[in-house]
Amino acid sequence: MKKQGKAIAMISGGLDSTLALAMVRAQGVEVKAINFYTGFCITETQRRKGGRQDGTMPQNEALRAAADLEIEIEYIDISGQQYLDMVLNPKYGYGANANPCVDCRIFMMKKAKEVMEREGADFIFTGEVLGQRPKSQRRDTLWAIEKESGLKGRLVRPLSAKLLPPSIPEQEGILDRARLGDISGRGRTRQIAMAGELGLADWPQPAGGCCFLTDESFSRKFFDILGQREAAGEPRTIDRDDVVLMTTGRHFRISPTVKLIVGRTEVENGTLETYAGATRARLAARSHTGPVALVEGVATWEERLLAARILARYGKGKDQPTVEIEWRDPDGGVETLVVEPERDEARVEQLRI
Ligand code: SF4
Repeated sequence: MKKQGKAIAMISGGLDSTLALAMVRAQGVEVKAINFYTGFCITETQRRKGGRQDGTMPQNEALRAAADLEIEIEYIDISGQQYLDMVLNPKYGYGANANPCVDCRIFMMKKAKEVMEREGADFIFTGEVLGQRPKSQRRDTLWAIEKESGLKGRLVRPLSAKLLPPSIPEQEGILDRARLGDISGRGRTRQIAMAGELGLADWPQPAGGCCFLTDESFSRKFFDILGQREAAGEPRTIDRDDVVLMTTGRHFRISPTVKLIVGRTEVENGTLETYAGATRARLAARSHTGPVALVEGVATWEERLLAARILARYGKGKDQPTVEIEWRDPDGGVETLVVEPERDEARVEQLRI
């Protein structure tokens, strides 16, 4: 008789992890799901900031999937400095953008292992598919993640299991290898067919699309900050405040050490207000309504004027000859700059990060 086991499922709510979950459950294995908050999750960041720019509120797909499948889920916050340090110094390097996917997976698997041991579970499984992503799901990388996380033989990828060496739960008779998958590559035809057989009609975009670190525009801001710190002779590091600000507003590189951030919505203006002070100057139009802006770094007189001119172009006074901008320094000193809104589109775009 087949041995009954318990497993920890790493789910995103996407199609692949939902199918992996269905496959393992179909074998009578008890499953508890986990999902991680890294601090770079797009939907969760939008939720914490009060919704998308269009006013809608995204849902956490992993929690939604767990509710739909009536499965227990633990939501684990790994967004601390330890995770940030990994993002800054990934042993396996970055993907196409600022995404250190291999190191990130190792980091998550180590946390998942702790849950597995605490829960007395036999193995962990994911919706990973061999060869689906160019770097993080290559055969050698899947093996490196398994080995470095200390999960040798206890990390199962049910969708590709038949193409990988037999895992411990397969050897122990908890999982029947014959009923696991042999899917590989980027195509999704087989997964979609399987979803049809299982009656799954709706699933969100692939998991990679929900991480800011894979986003090109976010990555530009990420590497720009590191470049700025190096230019200023500061440690090459970022903190939680930097991460929040990277996901807020339009960013402009005024000089190697001075940056301007302009709010795009009421919610973003509110966020920027809370970060003004200690090391950042706060700017806002006095003569017209318009966004709030922050300036990081010590600006020269010319740089102040340029920042004020750019801010002026995003407010109600953008078509007026001049706009009064209030500049409040971190030490509380206030001055008013009267500037013409910047009308040179090409110049503004050149400064945009
Ligand atoms: S996409 Fe983001 S969350 Fe997913 S593995 Fe890569 S870095 Fe980690």
